[in-house]
Amino acid sequence: MPQDQPFDVRRAGVLLHVTSLPGSGRLGPAAYEFVDFLAEAGCTVWQVLPLVPVHDGDGSPYNSLSSMAGNPDLIDEAMTHQFGMTADAELSDEQRVQYDAWCSQHAEWLDPYVEFMALRELQGDRPWQEWDPPLRDRERAAVGRALARHPSTVVVANADDPMVVSAAALASRPIWVAAGASWLGDASSCPRCGQTLTFTEPGWQCVCGLSRPTPDWWIEDSKVYTADAVLPLDIRLPGQVNRSNAAMALAAACAVGISADQAASALREVDVVAGRYAVVHRGGQDLRMLLAKNPAGWAGMLSMLSEPRPLLVIINAREADGRDTSWLWDVPFEHFGSRQVVASGERAADLGVRLSYAGLDHCTVADPLAALETLPPGQIDVVANYTAFHQFRRRLSREREATG
Ligand SMILES: [Zn+2]
Repeated sequence: MPQDQPFDVRRAGVLLHVTSLPGSGRLGPAAYEFVDFLAEAGCTVWQVLPLVPVHDGDGSPYNSLSSMAGNPDLIDEAMTHQFGMTADAELSDEQRVQYDAWCSQHAEWLDPYVEFMALRELQGDRPWQEWDPPLRDRERAAVGRALARHPSTVVVANADDPMVVSAAALASRPIWVAAGASWLGDASSCPRCGQTLTFTEPGWQCVCGLSRPTPDWWIEDSKVYTADAVLPLDIRLPGQVNRSNAAMALAAACAVGISADQAASALREVDVVAGRYAVVHRGGQDLRMLLAKNPAGWAGMLSMLSEPRPLLVIINAREADGRDTSWLWDVPFEHFGSRQVVASGERAADLGVRLSYAGLDHCTVADPLAALETLPPGQIDVVANYTAFHQFRRRLSREREATG
C-alpha cells in the first residue's frame, strides 16, 4: 500500500520559530513541552523556519554561512549540563564515540565548514571573494599555513626533528614532544637558511636561530614526563619508535581534553596497527609483519630486528610508495649481515643490487609467497613497504580463505 504523502491527508500545524518559544527561546525543555502540547492538540506539523546560524553581519538566517550547520545559539545550556556535554573533557566514553561517529558521518559538509569559518576569522570576517587569492582558491599549502596560525589550532610535533620543527613552529600553539629522531639523513642542513645544523645531544641548533624547542613532553626510562605529570609508558608495540609514537599520541589526546590516565590505558590495548606487528601463522612459519617505507622507518625498526631471524624484504615502487627506489641506498642493510635474507616484491631486483653492495648473502625471488618457500620454518621477520605490505597481507588472507 502506498504511503501517505504529506498533503494526502489534511493536517493541522503551527509555524513558529524556536526563538518564539516561551522562556529561553532555545531547544530546551520548553521545546519538548511544546511538541507534547502539539501532539495532544492533534497537530502533526511544526514548521520551525531556518535553524542555521544567523549571519553575523545582518543577523539573518536567510543569509547564513551554512545551509547545513545548526545555530549554536539555539542550544539550551541547562540541557547540555544535564547530559554532561558542556566541555570536551566531560563527555563520557559512549558520548565521545557517538560524537566521533557523527563527525565522520557529516564530514562532507562539516570539515569544509569548520575550515571556512576558521579562515574567515583569520581574514577579519571579510567575504571569501575578498580573501588573499591562495586562500580564496583553497590552495592546500596556503590553507594549511593559515590554519596552523589559528589561535585554536593545536599542533603536536617532534622537537627532535629539525624539518618538523621548522614546519610546526608556524603554529600558534605547538606542543613539543621529545620523540627522538633515529634518522637525520635529510636534516643535516637548516630548512630555514641552508646552513649546516649543529647536533649536540639532546639538542640541535642553527646559526640563524632555529633550534630544538624545549619539550613539553619527554620520555625517560619507561615513563613519559610533562611539566606536571609522570605517566607509565606501558605499551605492547615493540621498539623505541613506538614508544615515541605513544608519547606523541598521549600529548595529542591530552590536548583534546582526554585524561592522561584514560589515554595511557587505551594505548596499552594496542597490539596491532592495521596489520603491522601482527604475527601471521603460515604452515610452520610465523611471519612477523613489519612496514617500513623509507630510511627513517627502517632506522626506527633496527632495534626490532636485533634477533637474527630470517628476513623477507618486499619492495614495490608504485605511486603510494614513490616511484624512485634510490632511498634503499640510505637504509643501513649492512646491519643485517648474519641472517638469511630474501629480496622480493615488484622491485626485488633493485633491492637485490642494494643488498649485494651491502655485502649481504641473499637470494632474489620476486613473488613473496614463492620467496617464503626458500625460508625455513619458525619465526621470520617480513618487512615491506606500503603497497607491498598490503598486497602481501591480502594474498596471505586469500590463501587462508582458500585453504579454509
Ligand atoms: Zn638556519
